[in-house]
Amino acid sequence: MHKTDKRMNRRDVLKLAALSGAGTLAGTSEAEANDIKSSNKKNISKKHPLHIAIIGGGMAGTTLAYRLSRAISYPVITLYEPEENSCWYQPGMTMVGTGIWPMVALEYSREDYLPMHVTRNKNAVTSVDADTRTITDSSGKSMHYDYIIAASGLTLDFSAIDGLKGELTSLEGIETVKTWMNDPSIGSVYYLHGAIRLSRQLDRLIEKGQKLADGKKLQVLFSQPKINIKSPAAAKSVLMSLIERVKKAGLQDHVEIIFTAEDGKLSANKVYDSLYKKMFKKEHILFQQKELRSINTTEQKAMFTDGEEKPYDFIHITPPMKASPYLTKSSLLNNSGFIDVNEKTLEHKVHPRIFAIGDIAGCAALKSASAIIKQVKTIADTIRALDEEKKPSATYDGYGSDTLLCASSKSILFEAWDFKEKPLSPVIELNPLECHSIYWYSSLYLAKTYMMKGVLRGWA
Ligand SMILES: Cc1cc2nc3c(=O)[nH]c(=O)nc-3n(C[C@H](O)[C@H](O)[C@H](O)COP(=O)(O)OP(=O)(O)OC[C@H]3O[C@@H](n4cnc5c(N)ncnc54)[C@H](O)[C@@H]3O)c2cc1C
Repeated sequence: MHKTDKRMNRRDVLKLAALSGAGTLAGTSEAEANDIKSSNKKNISKKHPLHIAIIGGGMAGTTLAYRLSRAISYPVITLYEPEENSCWYQPGMTMVGTGIWPMVALEYSREDYLPMHVTRNKNAVTSVDADTRTITDSSGKSMHYDYIIAASGLTLDFSAIDGLKGELTSLEGIETVKTWMNDPSIGSVYYLHGAIRLSRQLDRLIEKGQKLADGKKLQVLFSQPKINIKSPAAAKSVLMSLIERVKKAGLQDHVEIIFTAEDGKLSANKVYDSLYKKMFKKEHILFQQKELRSINTTEQKAMFTDGEEKPYDFIHITPPMKASPYLTKSSLLNNSGFIDVNEKTLEHKVHPRIFAIGDIAGCAALKSASAIIKQVKTIADTIRALDEEKKPSATYDGYGSDTLLCASSKSILFEAWDFKEKPLSPVIELNPLECHSIYWYSSLYLAKTYMMKGVLRGWA
């Protein structure tokens, strides 16, 4: 563990306890109960129930469904969600991809994550009429709502790279990517079956390196699109896991690793961007600003938009990420392809009573599960205030954090910042620009319980 001159104070102990799903959660639940009682009293005179639609039952949609069902009196909430698996623990895919956890560690049952008073509509949303707040689903049925909250996350757009096919969400089935997903030289931690295969692919790469003729080097590529993706640290964690394996096998002089980034950024935050660049230099990773255009899977070559061609023994792909198709036809997106919200209130800039939460929200926060925790409070408090005919005052501060597994075994760096862009220490007051083993243990043993039993059930 890295040394720190700051000791854990009581607040830190409580935060860590919260990560275990104990202590603080019980406290929160009491506070929440009082909150609900007073909210019920205030709303007793409401003439009609509020009809609320949430589009997407992943991390953001499920958390908000719980929170709203407690924050508002007599809500009628419809959760549109066609997928069974998308309530699984998505941040844990990095642990699976690097061989630390088995896939079963991610599995949760959708039925356990449907709050009372919330009706699940298993059809996908096919369109939203923002002017009339009307949603049409894949059965052809249309419904009007008082509030609509888009929580449909991001679609992984592998088909934007010529030579690959398929668009899917991180926890969806694999139908659309099956033409290339069994290729041992192409990996991606960003979709479930990619994460499941990844650790074995890295092992095979090392085995290949051990059989190389003298003077030959393994060619490894990591490609990243523009930085407005979810969990940009996940790909770097795979890279660090590979470096650890290379060092263990004594193959440092037999591997060349190139990391390309379309906009030349390793983080949207300047401080972390330069920290990662230094880290890459130290590990002899060549960093280049380049946009991947296509892949020739037969010849194992990657082609970039600047005309350069690079051979690879293994390529890790972070796919471009975009809005779900129902949104591309709507008037809700900004020029970057995300929902055009006021980033402090998360309400649409043009269409009142339409909100966005999670990865699809167009704000400058780090797209992560941890961002959702604060976004949920802002939206629930705002809708409750509007319901009570009060001026909403809750605002989102832009907090988000991401986990980087460091190359030195069993330590983690939390990339965490808010709209002020200052690096923050998320759990206890440690240097936010260093790897710490206490974060390793909390991520391994506590964070999942906190997310799945606390956050996802709307308690955090
Ligand atoms: C490998 C990996 C590692 C990560 N690591 C971290 C980490 O360390 N820390 C962290 O905080 N975050 C991490 N994240 C990010 C985090 O998991 C996401 O930010 C979070 O899941 C986003 O939640 P969401 O609800 O916005 O989207 P999702 O959880 O992706 O859910 C979107 C939902 O919308 C549904 N949907 C889509 N289209 C429609 C439609 N037309 N109609 C109805 N429903 C629809 C989908 O089926 C899905 O259920 C990681 C992510 C990945 C992939």
